[in-house]
This record gives sequence, C-alpha cells and structure tokens, in this order.
Amino acid sequence: MYARERVRAGELRERYPHAAEVLALYLALVEVWESVGDDVPPDGALDWAQANVLPRVVAATTSNGPPPLAEALGTAGRDGLLDAWLADEELTPVERYLARATMRVVPLPATRNAVSGRCPTCGGQPQLSYRADSDDPLVSGRRMLRCARCANEWNFSATTCPNCGETGKRTVYAEARAGPQVGRAPADEDALFPHLRAESCQSCRRYLIDIDLGRDPRAVPQVDELAAVPIDLHMADEGYTKITPNLMGF
Ligand SMILES: [Zn+2]
Ligand SMILES: [Zn+2]
Repeated sequence: MYARERVRAGELRERYPHAAEVLALYLALVEVWESVGDDVPPDGALDWAQANVLPRVVAATTSNGPPPLAEALGTAGRDGLLDAWLADEELTPVERYLARATMRVVPLPATRNAVSGRCPTCGGQPQLSYRADSDDPLVSGRRMLRCARCANEWNFSATTCPNCGETGKRTVYAEARAGPQVGRAPADEDALFPHLRAESCQSCRRYLIDIDLGRDPRAVPQVDELAAVPIDLHMADEGYTKITPNLMGF
C-alpha cells in the first residue's frame, strides 16, 4: 500500500542529503503504517489507534527521528491526543507530529460544509499541490491539491490561491542552479529541485509546495514535498508562511 512512498523516500534520501534524516524517519513511519494493514476496526478506530498505533509511532521516532524531535517526545501529552487533534485544539509541534503520524491509518469523519480550497472529504487544508504529467508538452497537466489531514486529492484551479481565493497576486518561486530566482524560470535539469517550486499569494502571504510530475514522473508528491526544506527556509525569509506545515513540521 505504501510501496511507492517507500521506494521514493529511499531515492530522495540519496539525492538530497539535507533531507536524509527526515526521510529516514518517514521510512520508519511507513513501516508502522504498513504493519497496521487492515487491522483498524470500523468502530472505535480512534481509541484503537491511540492504544495500538501511537506507541509504535513513538518507538519509531525514538529510534529514527532527528535528535531534537526524539528528545521532544518526552514533553508530549499523549492522553486524548487524537481527540484533541481532531477538535483542532492547540498542540505543540511534537504533539501535532505524533497525532498526524498516527492518524494516517485512521479514516476521518466526513465534513458537511464544503469550503473552497479545503478538502471536500474532511475539510482539511491542502498540504501541497501537484501537476499531473501531460502527454502534450504544450499543455501542462491539471492542478491537484492533496489534503494535509486525509489522503484525499482533488482538482483545483491553477490560478487561484487555495488559502484566500485570490486569483491575481500569485508568485511562483523556483530554485535554479544559479541561485534563487523568482518567477517561472525555464526548466533547469541541473537545478537542485527541477520539479519543485513554491506557489505563493501576495494577498495572504501564504504558500505551498507545488510538484511538477511532468518534470519528474517518478515523484510521489507527499514524499517529495518533505525534501523541499531549503525552499521552505527561503520562503520564511521572504515573509511567507506555508498554508499548513507538513508531517515533519516544515
Ligand atoms: Zn481531507
Ligand atoms: Zn492567498
């Protein structure tokens, strides 16, 4: 079920030493998620995950996590953690990480209010956007958003900010070999991230990472997004905030 994620995380760990720690942890989490398989009970899934999955996520993080994250585990409150996360209560970064890594295997309740730019299934915020590979090189693929809370993906306007709905004031940031460039630079095969860029909005000052599968058909958006930390740091310097931090907190 997570075969593509596992292969891609292994590839990117070699390609991007800066992301090796994060991807090693991701691979350990994939093992936890795979070990759960079809065991999640249809009723009481939350309590079950709290008792059976959360401890495995903690163990995987203790063994494989970047030291600051592993050390912060001791400060995380664990009682009722998943309920608190579902209710959008304020959590520390390490608590949010534990809840998200555990909830990955738990189906979320459906939402009743559809909000533009939000996940039509659970109401969550978009984690990333990606463009599907297109057969016609002159037509770029349609844009998809992927939910940060559940694994749902949905089609969304390529010219609209998913956070505030602004259609005009968007900026695209792509890192090219010659250094950071703002704007739609031509494809640079030697760029560190030829297929990753930040799509930001000048109205709300938020952004998300966009993955272009046309430039790297092997990319797995939710894995590649984790490797974009240098772009995230650049965007923070420019005063932009990601619409929602990823699983690892970037
Ligand atoms: Zn969702
Ligand atoms: Zn916006």
